[in-house]
Amino acid sequence: MNSWEVFGHDWAVDMLQQHVAHNTLRHAYLLTGPSGVGRRTLAIRLAQSLNCANGAPGAPCRTCRTCKQIEAGQHPDLLVIKKLPDKKDILIDQIREVSKFLSLKPYMAAYKIVLIANFEDANASSQNALLKTLEEAPSFALLLLTAENAEQLLPTIISRCEILRLRPLTVNAVTEFLSGRGVEPEKARLLAHLSDGRPGYALQLSTDEKALTFRTEKLDELRKLLAAKRRERLNYAEKLAKDKESFRQTLLIWLTYWRDVLLKTSGAQAELTNIDRFEEIENLAYDVDLALARSLTQGMEQTLDRLDKNVNPRLLAEVTLMDWPRLAA
Ligand SMILES: [Zn+2]
Repeated sequence: MNSWEVFGHDWAVDMLQQHVAHNTLRHAYLLTGPSGVGRRTLAIRLAQSLNCANGAPGAPCRTCRTCKQIEAGQHPDLLVIKKLPDKKDILIDQIREVSKFLSLKPYMAAYKIVLIANFEDANASSQNALLKTLEEAPSFALLLLTAENAEQLLPTIISRCEILRLRPLTVNAVTEFLSGRGVEPEKARLLAHLSDGRPGYALQLSTDEKALTFRTEKLDELRKLLAAKRRERLNYAEKLAKDKESFRQTLLIWLTYWRDVLLKTSGAQAELTNIDRFEEIENLAYDVDLALARSLTQGMEQTLDRLDKNVNPRLLAEVTLMDWPRLAA
């Protein structure tokens, strides 16, 4: 592992260390990649590297008061911005806070650092507001943005940032990461598959028994629904649609399952996500042909999209379950 103890993304660590060591730091970095892949950890390490009192340039000690405060997001020269839990977007007022924060010199460290998480949550006017800040940033300012894709942001923002695109890690890498954190081998392997290459997400799952139980339940229910009559499916759909967020989570789990069935029917060599369900997926692939597996997978993706666009959840749940084939129990 690299000296920042960031798992994977060695090239990004190396590049940022070079920027620190050679004093070629940009004013703004955009770290992209799926949530849980390591964007925030990387940003925090960069912030620590710049402000740590003990370490050599580019090598934070991670034990001094400054390093600890930055890790916790509590340092006076660090401002962390993210969407408030009860809001739809990152608010323009939050972006105004950024320019206010940067209008004063650092309080105790060398740099004032702003970390904005999931900047795709900012609407166009908030993004435009940040643009002005980016253009007028003082020399002691460093902006660190994270987003799933650069393409979700205004081109004018992107052009002012150095972009670091973090890719999902391999299943083996995530397994190794989890094993290093004390997760037992079999569980580590399953979680690595479920995490789509996101070590942070996998680690979170490893301590979240509720999430794993929820997944097991939903996959068991999927099996039962495949053998269920029309009436039972409609009853289930009605219940499912009552809680939109839980409906959404259910769809995400089912989608991974249908994708696995699609992989199997297409004869692809890629490894399944739901490896603990290997046998039943293989059996299901005998009953479902490629065209059906493809249309079911696409159907689930469309349903998720429509749910986000506020189409009636009950209607979506009914249509989804009615599309599924009826199989012998
Ligand atoms: Zn330190």
